[in-house]
Amino acid sequence: MRAVRYVGQGESRLVEMPIPEATEGEILLRLRCCGLCGTDLFKLDSDAIPKGTVLGHELVGTVAALGSGVSAFELGQRVVVPHHVACGECSLCQRGSETLCSTFRENLLFPGGFSEFILVRKRAVAQAARALPASMPDAAAIFMEPAACVLRGIDKANLPAVDIPLKAATTAIVLGCGSMGLLHLLLLRAIHPEIRVAMSDPIPERRRLAEVLGADAACSPEGLADAVERLSEGVGADAVFDTVGHPDIVEKVFPLSREGGSLVLFAHARPGARLALELNDIFKHERQIVGTYSGTLAEQRRVFTLMSSGRLDPTPLVSHQLPLQNFQRAVELASQQKALKILLTPGEGEGTRGAS
Ligand SMILES: [Zn+2]
Ligand SMILES: [Zn+2]
Repeated sequence: MRAVRYVGQGESRLVEMPIPEATEGEILLRLRCCGLCGTDLFKLDSDAIPKGTVLGHELVGTVAALGSGVSAFELGQRVVVPHHVACGECSLCQRGSETLCSTFRENLLFPGGFSEFILVRKRAVAQAARALPASMPDAAAIFMEPAACVLRGIDKANLPAVDIPLKAATTAIVLGCGSMGLLHLLLLRAIHPEIRVAMSDPIPERRRLAEVLGADAACSPEGLADAVERLSEGVGADAVFDTVGHPDIVEKVFPLSREGGSLVLFAHARPGARLALELNDIFKHERQIVGTYSGTLAEQRRVFTLMSSGRLDPTPLVSHQLPLQNFQRAVELASQQKALKILLTPGEGEGTRGAS
């Protein structure tokens, strides 16, 4: 089989590898598609992975072989599965910090999603893999993992409950209109139908797509203050979600959060990046700053329900579909912000869909 292996210095190459064999409790998937994620880009860009690594964790595949003892899946079924599963028992898991559990870091997909075949380890088969209903396209299902990460962050923002009548509508700011920023918009809409969302991005085409997808305002970073003032009726934003990871932007936008509001840090920042914030803006005004990392099985379950019911449709976020052999091109497109979500497929040929 062919797989995209990291060869160092940010470069990857398509190489031949033996097809792994499914042993007890495991399943072998034939790749249908795998999303290229910001985390993959970060790892490539920072040279933070050993040579030989096969990245990719947002995948849908078809069951090609079943290990002994697997009865929950059938050959030919379409399956979505995440790469990480927490142990559920350690002191971090017990306290709700499952994504920080040391077992969670273990990659349960071998060799990785950017490969023609993927072995799914026993724990992921038993706890995390899901057969897809015919109504759910691959281009939606690959968002199960990234959308779970977003949902975890939204939970941490402590937005006002949906059923409390408010004098001014709940308002959120999302920094960045890339695929993760837009996924925040879609999830916020799915669980808080009345929420008002102001987004910012320096790229005009991305702002336009944010508007098409339902943002109440999509502006350049400079225009945010006016938009938030208007949308929140002077209250300020209940939450700011940062999908960019640049301190200057966060520092500028933080004061647009309301008293008692929150800042949710979702993005990778360059190593050593620091925030300079006025302590009293946090202490005296009861603002909170929270980090959110990855997502759990519970959040994936909720995302799956939202997608199955049609309340969440992330498919417009897929801008490109490229075969594995064009992986390097996919990395360039994403790094140069010329794409939203790119799907890598085993097949030949290049396709573009939707806006970019
Ligand atoms: Zn990801
Ligand atoms: Zn644990």
